[in-house]
Amino acid sequence: LSFSQLGLATWLVNALKAMSITSPSEIQNKCIPQILAGKDVIGGAKTGSGKTAAFALPILQKLSEDPYGVFAVVLTPTRELAYQIAEQFNVLGKTINLKDVVIVGGMDMMPQAIALSKRPHIIIATPGRLRDHINSSGASGMNLSKVKFLVLDEADRLLSETFADDLGGIFSVLPEKRQTLLFTATMTDSILELAGPKDDKPVPGAK
Ligand code: AMP
Repeated sequence: LSFSQLGLATWLVNALKAMSITSPSEIQNKCIPQILAGKDVIGGAKTGSGKTAAFALPILQKLSEDPYGVFAVVLTPTRELAYQIAEQFNVLGKTINLKDVVIVGGMDMMPQAIALSKRPHIIIATPGRLRDHINSSGASGMNLSKVKFLVLDEADRLLSETFADDLGGIFSVLPEKRQTLLFTATMTDSILELAGPKDDKPVPGAK
């Protein structure tokens, strides 16, 4: 299948072409139509599989159709991964003037708080620092009540590195009605639990 056949708009297909990406990887084939159809997904995928584009492309397409409020929160275990994910969003989202913000530890809180208050479309964050902002934002600042997508990148590592408290704090301020997109190299019971109720979850690549 081609990217257009998966349901992606021409402007995204062209952005991919400009990056010399012309045919979807396996994880993209499985996830993109499901995400466009409004479903939650659990993707079994490692770095290098094209998993970032598998969630970035359908999120950008939905964002271009309805650019209101903070749209997606992407959680990832390390700063480096956060910047890599932002880079792919920025390249693919250039033509729609995507506003994203990277929220990671080791940087001043204040510039991040200002960036968050400017209503970015996409927040790419490590859990600890995003939790710090949620705890300190009070009445002003960021409003996550309109978030439509939660992405858990490297979910197995998000679980293993005792992010549990931070994840709980973040989940508690997100709307229940949202799409959850979870990517993991390994599939365990706690991953499935993290993804929420199993009934309506397609599980591409799950064991
Ligand atoms: P990721 O698995 O998200 O870390 O992506 C690894 C690299 O593969 C990135 O540099 C992408 O630009 C590239 N990539 C993503 N999708 C494809 C594809 N369908 N064909 C070739 N390269 C791709």
